[in-house]
Parts: sequence; structure tokens; C-alpha cells
Amino acid sequence: MSAPSDLSSKLDEASAAYEEFASRGLALDITRGKPAPEQLDLAADLLTAVSGDDFRTPGGVDTRNYGGLDGLIELREIFAPLLKVPADQLLAGGNASLTFMTQALTFALMHGTAVDDRPWGQGPHKLLCPVPGYDRHFTLAESLGFELLTIPMDDEGPIISEAQRLAEDPAVKGMWLVPMYSNPTGITVTEARARELAAMPTAAPDFTLLWDNAYGVHHLREDHPDNLDILSLCAEAGHPERAWVFASTSKITHAGAGVSFFAGGPATVDWMRANLGKVAIGPDKINQLRHVRFFSDPAGVEAHMRKHAEIVAPKFDAVLKALEDGLGAEELAQWTSPDGGYFITLTTMEGIADRVVKLAGEAGVKLTPAGATHPYGLDPDNNIIRIAPTMPTLDEVELAAQGLVACVRLASYEKLLA
Ligand code: PLP
Repeated sequence: MSAPSDLSSKLDEASAAYEEFASRGLALDITRGKPAPEQLDLAADLLTAVSGDDFRTPGGVDTRNYGGLDGLIELREIFAPLLKVPADQLLAGGNASLTFMTQALTFALMHGTAVDDRPWGQGPHKLLCPVPGYDRHFTLAESLGFELLTIPMDDEGPIISEAQRLAEDPAVKGMWLVPMYSNPTGITVTEARARELAAMPTAAPDFTLLWDNAYGVHHLREDHPDNLDILSLCAEAGHPERAWVFASTSKITHAGAGVSFFAGGPATVDWMRANLGKVAIGPDKINQLRHVRFFSDPAGVEAHMRKHAEIVAPKFDAVLKALEDGLGAEELAQWTSPDGGYFITLTTMEGIADRVVKLAGEAGVKLTPAGATHPYGLDPDNNIIRIAPTMPTLDEVELAAQGLVACVRLASYEKLLA
């Protein structure tokens, strides 16, 4: 630890650097986990892939008409190997996987699941929320009346002992998980941890892994982990219906105008079909056909994602370099170095994340509010900041990261001298 006089000169330096940055009058935003326009351009051909006289699937289906609740088989066959699920246990739906999540949870609350027909909503119902996590998972579950229980994560996934302890309560119905390049840490659940999750004893017979594989093909590096076959891992562990798999092309083609996916054990897919059949006659097959034509096969998706990586990886690298240059030597913070996905997590000293976010906002760098990564918006250690580098230009990302570093330095020295 530096002597107080050193610390106070560091604080002076940090304060001057912050003022200098703030005086530039910038307006930068690294809050949004959205694709940049150049990423959306990559899918431009999608918009013209179906026309008024060319609307039939390879199998001859007229996509303009009702029907086909499961979604187009040709599309499911492209994504099934990528998601490591059988095509006949994969449903292709509408434009948002969050809708599938909402529907699956609502059906469970109203009607019970494929494993246990007692409706979750009849008694207390709780979900495990590994943190830091995805805010929309938390707000969705909260809005449906679930109590949210926080569990910690390490770099292999959720801490099993804690999950298992909480799952002794029969009201605990499941756990959110983003298995690949998690939002917001970027960590990937290891096979060993997934096996433990698949096998974990739980009081609720229909304890469910809400396996949201939103970033399953979003690799930034040539060398990358592969998706886990979670359905087989659960089946091998004697819980064939434990995982509900969600995914979408929101961050592959056009955000909010892509295709969503749901997969599960054989009984779960039948359960989903039976429930879905009452709320829809079928998905938007025209959009699904566009995606079939655009990708052709799984290799087409992988080739497309390599083009995304060319745009996104330099932005991640710019943030990581700025953090290392500005904070590394003095170890003022820690951060994740994801190999894919959309986010980097910065862990500051305890108690200053909200101060950093406030300083950044006043200096023209918009950051995700502190706490957003935790259930009920409450980060008890007040030290987690989510960085989303994809949407701004590379120049803007570099500047925003410099500004963020200036704020962390200032807030850290303020705290050290407090
Ligand atoms: N799941 C995760 C983990 C996400 O980060 C996001 C978007 O940021 C979504 C789901 C949203 O997916 P969709 O657009 O398919 O609803």
C-alpha cells in the first residue's frame, strides 16, 4: 500500500486526468448490448431472400400460409448441430427468445411442466440467479412473481454447493444460465460444471436449467470452446427434461427481427408444443425461410459469425488494452477477457461502482447503471460494471474506455484516501 502522500498525489493526478477527459465534451455510450450497424449490414441479403413469387421452402411448404408450429425443418436442421440438440427436439419460433422464455415460464406457472403437472404458480416459486447476470432474466422472472435468489459464479459457472443448498427448497424451480460467453462476464460453463448441474439433487422434481444460449456461436477468437450437449448431459444424469434451451439469431442477423429457438427433452418439447398450440397457429415462416436461404447450412452460420468477429474483436481488444494500460499496474480493478459474446465485466474496489458510473456519466461516457447485473438491481458489493463494446465505432470505444479508466482511477484513489 502506498504512503498517504503518494496516494494524495495519485488522487491529484487522477483528478486532473478526469477533468481533462470531461472537458472534451464527448457523448459516448457503452451500455447497449446491440450489434453495430456494420454487423447488421452483414445480413443485408436476408431482406431480399424471399420474394412475391419465390416463397416455398425446399420441402415445398408455402410459407405465406398458416401452420407448421415447430418451425421450418430446414432451419431447425441448420441450427440443431450448432446448438448441439436434435433437430426433432428443436422448435423455431418468432423474433425473440425472450418470448419463448416468457411462454415457457408462464406455462409452468399455469400448468406445471412435463415432469410434474402441479402448476409452479400454486405455491411459492423461486429461481436461482447466478450473478453477475442478465438484467432481463431478472426483471422477467420478477414480473412473473418469482423470488430471485442470488448465487455466486466462478470462471467455470455457478457455484454448485450454493446452488445445491438452495435447491433443497422445493419452491426453487430452476436456475437462469447463459452457458456460453455469459452476459455480462463472458465466462463459459465448463463441461465438468454442466455435468454437476445436470446431476445436482433438487427438492423440486422439475427443477429446470434455463439454458439461455444467446451467444453460442458468437466466438471472437479462432480457438474457442464448443457448445455443450446439455440435453444429453442431463439425460445421462437421469434428468432428461432438466434443461430448457433457448437461443436466437438476434445477434446473428437482425436484432429483434431474427428467429428464436427452444429445445428440451422429448417430453418437454411435446409439452411446449401442446401449450404453444393454444397461443399461436404457427411462427413467421417467411422470416424463417429468409434465414434458411441466407445461411444454407451450419457452415454458413459459422462463416457469417467470423465476419462479426472481425468487427467486434478489435473493439473488445481496445477496451482490454485501455484497462490494462490504465489500471493493470496498480491493480485498481479486475476484468474479464471474454473469447466471445457481447460484454466485459469490470470489478472495481468494493463500494465504488455507482461512483464510477456517475463520474463517467458526468464526463460524457454512459455506462450501464451499477447494480443492473444483479436481481432487484442490488449489487451488495457495489463493484460490478458491465461494458458493452459492440455498438459504438472503434474510435468511440477507445475513447470511452479511456474515460472509464479515468473514472475508475479517480474513484479508487478517492476511496483509498477516504
Ligand atoms: N439472452 C441474453 C443472455 C441476452 O444477452 C439477450 C440480449 O441481450 C437476449 C437473451 C435477448 O434475446 P432475444 O432478442 O432473442 O429476445
